Amino acid sequence: MTLYLKACPRCHGDIALDDDQFGRYMECLQCGFLVRPKAEDTPSPVAPRKTAAA
Ligand SMILES: [Zn+2]
Repeated sequence: MTLYLKACPRCHGDIALDDDQFGRYMECLQCGFLVRPKAEDTPSPVAPRKTAAA
């Protein structure tokens, strides 16, 4: 994990560069601002999944 100090565009907090199964992402540790640099390569990771309501 890489840290970018005071790199958050929203709150100027510290942003952590990390990755998960969807690819790389940067998340602000202070406000939770999330950036996915390669968003066009990844299928929407937080797409709402429709569940059959019983
Ligand atoms: Zn922030």
